[in-house]
Amino acid sequence: MRFVAECQAEAIDSEGRRASGVRCRLSDGRRVTVRARTVIVAAGAIASSVLLQRSGIARGRAGRGLAFNMATPLTADFPDELHSERGLQISHYLEPPAEAGYALETWFNPIVTQALFMPGWFEQHRRNMRRYAHMTCVGSVVGTKSGGSVRPALLGGGVTLDYTPDPDDVARVVAGLKLAGRIMLEAGALRVMPSSHRYLEFRAPGDLDALDQLLADDSDLLLNSAHPQGGNAISVDRDRGVVDPDLRVHDFENLYVCDASVFPSSITVNPQLTVMALADYASSRIS
Ligand SMILES: Cc1cc2nc3c(=O)[nH]c(=O)nc-3n(C[C@H](O)[C@H](O)[C@H](O)COP(=O)(O)OP(=O)(O)OC[C@H]3O[C@@H](n4cnc5c(N)ncnc54)[C@H](O)[C@@H]3O)c2cc1C
Repeated sequence: MRFVAECQAEAIDSEGRRASGVRCRLSDGRRVTVRARTVIVAAGAIASSVLLQRSGIARGRAGRGLAFNMATPLTADFPDELHSERGLQISHYLEPPAEAGYALETWFNPIVTQALFMPGWFEQHRRNMRRYAHMTCVGSVVGTKSGGSVRPALLGGGVTLDYTPDPDDVARVVAGLKLAGRIMLEAGALRVMPSSHRYLEFRAPGDLDALDQLLADDSDLLLNSAHPQGGNAISVDRDRGVVDPDLRVHDFENLYVCDASVFPSSITVNPQLTVMALADYASSRIS
């Protein structure tokens, strides 16, 4: 086996039902074509979908049904110094009954990253940052509906991503924030603060009931995702997916996709173990 580092796949060549190779560009600008009996695409939810589309493969299907684990943090300020930054970044996880539709994960970040998440503007932000050693964070995480799509940008080498958070998904994120806030206040936090555009802080569990009214829509809340999923969904039905249950691209004999892009829907929890399990599953099916 040979690994080629700093080598960007630009398009997959195919003849009929067979992929014949991958056209690539090396970091020094040289172009190479890798000929292969079997081609496995594993560039992640965004790039795999775009690579297939740039190659004219799975037209009208690749890049559809993109979903995310959408998250927003709640910062809690405790009377004692916690120095959360010295511990595990994600140390606790809570999954309420399935119908709640969200999960809670404690997070804490090194100081500069935390500054990006820290609620408040200007003087308020500065005052909050000075309490960094007393703080911890809980993320409310929701596996979104599969309403996103990605495609190559019309100009240049970038991508165009279309995604508008579904109001129901946002409502579940906010429900998670309320529970997270109650837990932190019951545990002794002096105050809890969502990462909202308008600065909000809550000091009593009952006050959190008003959170839905205080947040008019998704633009009031810092929403983020490091977990894009889908785009090349796995399905026995060629019209509903890009790969079959063997992870083989429909209509192809020797072209496979193996990464988070084959998830048929968002899984809510952190996806890395599932991606690894998929690779293990794929290894017995790809010849
Ligand atoms: C900051 C951050 C923190 C995270 N923390 C966690 C965590 O704690 N736990 C967890 O489970 N998950 C975590 N995740 C999510 C996890 O990393 C992803 O879900 C997972 O890596 C997805 O795997 P993948 O194989 O689909 O894609 P990737 O891991 O993104 O792999 C795709 C690879 O393809 C390469 N590539 C892309 N395009 C091309 C191209 N055209 N040619 C050649 N190569 C290409 C990319 O450089 C990349 O190396 C985190 C993600 C981020 C960004």
